[in-house]
Amino acid sequence: MNYICVECKSTFPLESHKWKCDCGGLLNLEYEKKLIDFNITSSSRNHSLWKYIDALPFNEEDVWQDVTMGEGDTPLIKLAENLYAKAEYYMPTLSFKDRGVAVLIAMAKKLGIDRVVADSSGNAGSSIAAFGARAGIQCDIFVADSTSDKKIKQIEAHGAVIHKIPGTREDVANAAIAMVEETNLFYASHIYNPLFWEGTKTYVYEIYEQMDGQLPEAFIIPVGNGTLLMGAYIALQELLENGQIDKMPKILAVQATACAPIQKAFVDGSTVVDSVENKGTLAEGIAIAAPARGAEILKAVRATDGDIITITDEETSEARKELARKGVYVEITAAVNYAAYSRYIEKYPDLKNQKVVLPLCGAGIKSN
Ligand SMILES: *Cc1c(COP(=O)(O)O)cnc(C)c1O
Ligand SMILES: [Zn+2]
Repeated sequence: MNYICVECKSTFPLESHKWKCDCGGLLNLEYEKKLIDFNITSSSRNHSLWKYIDALPFNEEDVWQDVTMGEGDTPLIKLAENLYAKAEYYMPTLSFKDRGVAVLIAMAKKLGIDRVVADSSGNAGSSIAAFGARAGIQCDIFVADSTSDKKIKQIEAHGAVIHKIPGTREDVANAAIAMVEETNLFYASHIYNPLFWEGTKTYVYEIYEQMDGQLPEAFIIPVGNGTLLMGAYIALQELLENGQIDKMPKILAVQATACAPIQKAFVDGSTVVDSVENKGTLAEGIAIAAPARGAEILKAVRATDGDIITITDEETSEARKELARKGVYVEITAAVNYAAYSRYIEKYPDLKNQKVVLPLCGAGIKSN
């Protein structure tokens, strides 16, 4: 397995600790993919994402065994006729980020790394801190000084060093990158390191298995940096290439109205994403004004004949209340997806007659 530059196609071994090509290009992964036998995985005694070990960059007997906390295999809850919600708040650190982090931190351990740097708007940081603690890897986590107290406490509880950075989310990322450049430490970035998607792709595998070898017509997916979206798209491509599905489901993406650079580029018909000003939103988990993987995200949404809409804070707050009245308590950012469902069925009335899955990305107690 190698990193491969999306621009110039140079390859680098994982041991290189590269997070970007010398040409400035972002890195993806290059490796031989193996077919998953869902008949076997569906009866596996391993009730975590690691039952898909054949499709992950590890062997059966490998360091992941010392790192896993049973992440994955989350329930699919029927919210309404044709609408299913995947309860990602059942994860060890209460958000879907554990999918990507478990894989990324297990690989760091396999590579013999004992200290990593990361930056986050919250949930990725608490996940890296937790899995880092479990793997015996010291973590330096950069967050915006405006990040929810609860998320910061969660990170600190695991013994990570917190760096609170004033300014924008981009300032936070730049501070983390400056430390990486200075120290040559491993950058455990959920945005730059494509190993993260190897974990998030299991989101789609699980749904395929839970729906008895079928997928919904559409996936509603929130987009900040696009780490769930990119992982989901990789899995969709694999299932299609392997003949395990015969049609690509649509990716119906959603951003917050106050910070929607990808939606803007989508509507403008652009293939690149220009950064916007983050005008401030309750949906802190997806408020990414300059998404590094913007071009790839646009390509993925378009390749599925999908769409991107935006949701206001009022709609998000209302959706969060409605979900709670159905017994489902999510953090504010996660309510965006339920609000998006209402808007998408207005926009595409036929969608009501089709199966749709949305993620419940993070637990209600994470936000106020
Ligand atoms: C991380 C996160 C998202 C969005 O993920 P991206 O990878 O930034 O697109 C959405 N909701 C919650 C709760 C998150 O933690
Ligand atoms: Zn390159």
